[in-house]
Amino acid sequence: MLIDGRLVAARNGATMEVTDPANGRTVGRAPKADVVDLDAAVEAAWRAQPTWAALHPGERARFLYRLADQIWAHKDELAELETRQYGGPIFKTSRFDIPSAAEMLEYYAGIGRGLSGVTLPAGSSARAMTLREPLGVVGLITPWNFPLVTAIAKVAPALITGNTCVLKPASCAPLTVLRLGEFAAEVGLPPGVLNIVSGPGSTIGEALVTHPKVAKINFTGDSETGKRIMRLAADYVKPVASELGGKNAFIVLADADLDATVEGAVWGAFYNSGQNCGAASRYFVQRPVYDEFAERFAAAAAKLTVGDPLKPETMIGPVAYEGHRDRIEGFIEGARRSGARLLLGGQRPDTPETQSGCFVAPTIFADCDPGSEFMQEEVFGPVVGLAPFDTPDEAVALTNDTRYGLCASVWTRDLRLGMVMADRIKTGTVWLNQHLAIVFEIPWGGRKESGWSKENSTLALEEYTMQKHLWIDLAGTPHTLWEE
Ligand code: NDP
Repeated sequence: MLIDGRLVAARNGATMEVTDPANGRTVGRAPKADVVDLDAAVEAAWRAQPTWAALHPGERARFLYRLADQIWAHKDELAELETRQYGGPIFKTSRFDIPSAAEMLEYYAGIGRGLSGVTLPAGSSARAMTLREPLGVVGLITPWNFPLVTAIAKVAPALITGNTCVLKPASCAPLTVLRLGEFAAEVGLPPGVLNIVSGPGSTIGEALVTHPKVAKINFTGDSETGKRIMRLAADYVKPVASELGGKNAFIVLADADLDATVEGAVWGAFYNSGQNCGAASRYFVQRPVYDEFAERFAAAAAKLTVGDPLKPETMIGPVAYEGHRDRIEGFIEGARRSGARLLLGGQRPDTPETQSGCFVAPTIFADCDPGSEFMQEEVFGPVVGLAPFDTPDEAVALTNDTRYGLCASVWTRDLRLGMVMADRIKTGTVWLNQHLAIVFEIPWGGRKESGWSKENSTLALEEYTMQKHLWIDLAGTPHTLWEE
């Protein structure tokens, strides 16, 4: 771990095993910190923050560029480690996760230097302005499905704006984030500016949330965990930025270009084995094309290569760990029980490459009840459901009938109708004729139980700064109502 500029083990020597879900082998061991380590990290961040905030933003930016350089220099090693610790296929980790992590550091090193406050009308006897300030020590808690890049999405805007950080990665896949700690030590990031502590969310995660010296929590993970964190933070009136779960609709109108729609449908459902907060999981298809779409979607998904995630041609790797596969299989059983019709998959793939790993075959159910648990709860795996609809109004109502509000897509040649529907869909993102286009120059975030903050883009900088009001009297006498 990285605490106060030093690479350390947990003080009590405890470790936790990180297992490759493709084959059950041990990838490595990570420190299993307890509250003593967490306290040391927060204290270090607290001590470092005033000096870090006092630097010119250009000086802070230089450290971000150096961290990016380290990631570029180790990109192949990091991509392989990412794949081995949570099963994301190597085409994804090498072409998206690791390059995006480096580029995001470079992006925030640039745009973070341009932040400013405003001057405000206060009459000729005063000047009023806002000064943009960092928050202080921020606590960052991240999930396992994009381990390094979700961490960087928080660390980069937090550091460039003058905050110091305590970062806690997910316990099943902490290794690339721990490597980031080694890079920070190598590039000479001042002690305490970035601290990385691995260990259970239930102990050190909660200690981070409730630590009085932590000004804000920025959390990505499950909606139930998010609620727990918000309840704990409420006792301190501590803000929580939250990027939570989704149950995202994919709406196919009868006039859609079915070739493109099927391609988008396979990508939206099965990229990263469906372990994406933005994954499409509820497919609402207009009745005239329902059967044709269902057949073509299942045929295209059947061609996906499932297997060893380290092979460049593999499209679908294992899911992250055994307990997660059990949970996904529970949803498959639930869909069967609810009367949905199995179109594809529904079982474990059985090939030499998949036999000893946590694999789930791409699975599609048709004729699902939109109100069933299967169509309402986040599966976070390669398992999706289809249901027909008649009118665009009905499709919008079905899309909004969920406690989540992360994203949705509408597939149609009629862009006017698509835009009218997009206006009425209650999610943070709507794509027309696209699903899962997530790029870091564009804001990402949800509403309802998908959380209410923004990650990526210039908007992420707002999550880590506040605008302080400064009033300067020019009249020489304080203005009061007594005189009037
Ligand atoms: P979890 O909520 O289980 O864990 C996320 C992080 O929170 C982990 O670091 C975990 O630690 C920590 N944690 C767990 N319990 C607590 C607690 N009581 N207090 C503080 N921290 C805690 O989510 P997953 O890792 O399983 O990630 C999957 C979820 O993340 C899905 O719901 C997905 O939709 C969501 N997600 C949302 C995104 C978005 O942008 N909206 C992006 C990516 C994922 P530990 O690992 O030790 O338990």
